Amino acid sequence: MNVRKIWRRGLDLLPHHGFHFDRPLVLIQSDDWGRVGLRDEAGLEQLRASGLVLGDRAYDFYTLETAEDLAALSSVLSHHRDSSGRNPCVGMNFILSNLDFAKMSSDAFREIHLLPLAEGLPQGWSRPGLVAAYRQGIADGVFYPAMHGSTHFCQSAVERSLSENGERAALLRTFWQAGTSYIHWRMPWIGYEYWDAEKAEDERMLAADTQRTLIGQTVGAFAKMFSTLPRSACAPGYRANDDTQRAWAQHGIRVAQNGTGMLAPVHFDRFEILHLFRTVEFEPATDASFSVEQCLRQAEACFERGLPAIVSVHSINFHSTVRDFRSRTLQALDEVFGALESKHEDLLYLHDENLYELASQGSYETPQGVVQVKVTRKTFTKAGLARQRDK
Ligand SMILES: [Zn+2]
Repeated sequence: MNVRKIWRRGLDLLPHHGFHFDRPLVLIQSDDWGRVGLRDEAGLEQLRASGLVLGDRAYDFYTLETAEDLAALSSVLSHHRDSSGRNPCVGMNFILSNLDFAKMSSDAFREIHLLPLAEGLPQGWSRPGLVAAYRQGIADGVFYPAMHGSTHFCQSAVERSLSENGERAALLRTFWQAGTSYIHWRMPWIGYEYWDAEKAEDERMLAADTQRTLIGQTVGAFAKMFSTLPRSACAPGYRANDDTQRAWAQHGIRVAQNGTGMLAPVHFDRFEILHLFRTVEFEPATDASFSVEQCLRQAEACFERGLPAIVSVHSINFHSTVRDFRSRTLQALDEVFGALESKHEDLLYLHDENLYELASQGSYETPQGVVQVKVTRKTFTKAGLARQRDK
């Protein structure tokens, strides 16, 4: 075992103060908003004409949300209320830049150029009213914007493939010519924003100063888009380390979102960032075993332990342009909310920043007033949680 592994194992034995809550709390965290995929039917046909056989997985039909998709989601959210009179709120993790295909094609796609989301969508893309729809949902309190990244993929990994100019570069250019950035499962070597998939295991996370620069740029792009600073962040592919968290803290991030797999209590790290763990998998578009009942069971397991039910639902589930993923998702979401509301008369819907306020001071403020929840602290170790899980 190398030194780093021993050090990590040591960290797993460190005690943390986990927060437990005496009311059922529900948060929704949703990744990949603003990131363009397949443009539309014409984009799909263009890729097929270039020899790609699409349709093996749902992500072959990942497109980009439309203003109508957002209106339909907003309508479901606004029909539900918690015990404080508040609507459920979807935390949307945004990708703040897309590829600037127009600029890149003038250079024969030899390098990457980014187009900030605040400046619009790439050439060939049309989503009338989309930005206004994001902002309306935020103003109505049914969407809460948070930071995902600038590109989602690891820029240095893509640049390496371009300079090698082999099969991988050809595949990338086929996608780019059709106005699609990438389809990750077909090219996992593009990695994740702060994580270079093909480096040696201990070198995959980008250097601290590279991460800090990227995060600074992303925070700037977020501020331009939403006229506010991000307070919650989720690393693309959940690939984050101490360097990511330190840079987030330096840029005012207070909440770090982590993926599913551990029923870990909410707790602060050494950078005073509050860590949240997703506990309910709500992915009807990609999960063949998805069911409303299973989601409700996962939520109840959280409530029994005094943990918030944190729902993971990626943006693809709300897309409708090339495949209608949206209808089934909204139907199921409506059922989940209805079941939770009728079973728990003290139910609360929150977003990440509310939970931060709650963990820090025992209450949080909404437009409807101040909400009090009894918060208790209990010590736990990550090693202990892993033992529980493996039992
Ligand atoms: Zn993502």
